[in-house]
Amino acid sequence: MAMNPKPDAAGPPCVTLVGAGPGDPDLLTLKAIKAIRQATVLLVDDLVGDGVLRYARRSARIVHVGKRGGCRSTPQAFIHRLMVAQARQGERVVRLKGGDPFVFGRGGEECDALRAAGVAVEVVPGITAGIAAPAALGIPVTDRRCAPGVAFVTGHAQPGGGGADWAALARSGLTLVVYMGVTAVDHIVQQLLQGGLAGATPAAVISAAHTAQQRALRCTLATLATDLHEAGLPSPAILVIGEVAALGAAAIVAAVPDSLLGVG
Ligand code: SAH
Repeated sequence: MAMNPKPDAAGPPCVTLVGAGPGDPDLLTLKAIKAIRQATVLLVDDLVGDGVLRYARRSARIVHVGKRGGCRSTPQAFIHRLMVAQARQGERVVRLKGGDPFVFGRGGEECDALRAAGVAVEVVPGITAGIAAPAALGIPVTDRRCAPGVAFVTGHAQPGGGGADWAALARSGLTLVVYMGVTAVDHIVQQLLQGGLAGATPAAVISAAHTAQQRALRCTLATLATDLHEAGLPSPAILVIGEVAALGAAAIVAAVPDSLLGVG
């Protein structure tokens, strides 16, 4: 098929994977803003806050390719094909993802697919929810008084394989930061308790961190599942399990910008 590159196309086909952070546009990097401003086509995941898109040029084509609330997601292969086709046509393509593109964001798969198609990839890291959401409560995930490190874990079982080794994590002494853990919270709690983690271990849940819908609760591992069900905190949410979850402020500190609350 004959290619018809745009007159202003600069160089070979390229896609930029951009991390949009947890939602608040003030948590974008300058590099992310530059890439969004330059884009002629944006393929956007649904965890990307609407405020982020205000940096896109008016003429840009914005394609929403995420899934929301259990709806079927746009098939990954389709996203790959779309990115390749648009880049080959000379569009400046930005693939915009919530948080960081390489933290539970399928960024690695997308890079592989693009490179296999001869399309260059640039990656702009973003602030991942696993750090930003606890920080919204003032929880320092690697506070050295509490833990030697942190494990970022998905609560979703991986396709074709089991999920995380919860028993090993229970023994690790690491702070556990669980992404996509709301649906499987009963299983996660049960596995950690069985693995020997004390029921009194502090825990926290932060939902929609750094957005106007932010909600949070603090509890213990023993009460985590019940408290979460009772409070009804929706996805997206981060679970934090470990001594650090007792640190920080009781109230939320400067998590939501005035502009989002409509008071700025
Ligand atoms: N790449 C993203 C993660 C995508 S996986 C990142 O680096 O943050 C989606 C999961 O991320 C959600 O199920 C939730 O666990 C978490 N998440 C994303 N945005 C969030 C937010 N604003 N508040 C709380 N959790 C969030």
